[in-house]
Amino acid sequence: DNRNIESVTSMFDDVVALLNSQAKLKNINLIKNESIDGVIYCNRSQIKQVLINLIKNAIEAMVEPGNITLEFQQCESHVEINIIDEGPGIPEEIIHKLGEPFFTTKQSGTGLGIMITKQILERHDGSLEIVNNDGQGSTFRIIFPNSKK
Ligand code: ADP
Ligand code: MG
Repeated sequence: DNRNIESVTSMFDDVVALLNSQAKLKNINLIKNESIDGVIYCNRSQIKQVLINLIKNAIEAMVEPGNITLEFQQCESHVEINIIDEGPGIPEEIIHKLGEPFFTTKQSGTGLGIMITKQILERHDGSLEIVNNDGQGSTFRIIFPNSKK
């Protein structure tokens, strides 16, 4: 279904162009760690949708000015794309519910963003990990197969 080798930076830049005004309203910077220069084999618009869903959630979670950081890591057996926010983190008692259809803690949330994200990643033989950063926000980690082939 239309997959190509895509630059993670370039997909992130497209998403920043879409979401930056919403972020700026809350004095949030969307930044990329300089280590990022990776490529992944993927459907570009689907992976952009994943980034939109996760970065939108991060913006919505943050109540104070700060940064949302994108980080890319090339590992031995896979690649990781981390989206790191400085929001309140996720209460332990609900963390396992994220991604259940219609699970939301927001007044007008749909509770579909993480579910769709997981579906797209599974279709790419990837996965999503959710990590609490000790009361300093959370990290949504996209795990992707190595694109070297
Ligand atoms: P929605 O955004 O419509 O609520 P999602 O599936 O995108 O649906 O997210 C589900 C729930 O996961 C959110 O309502 C929120 O409680 C929690 N969540 C998602 N991302 C974050 C985040 N970055 N920080 C804290 N909580 C989050
Ligand atoms: Mg959402």
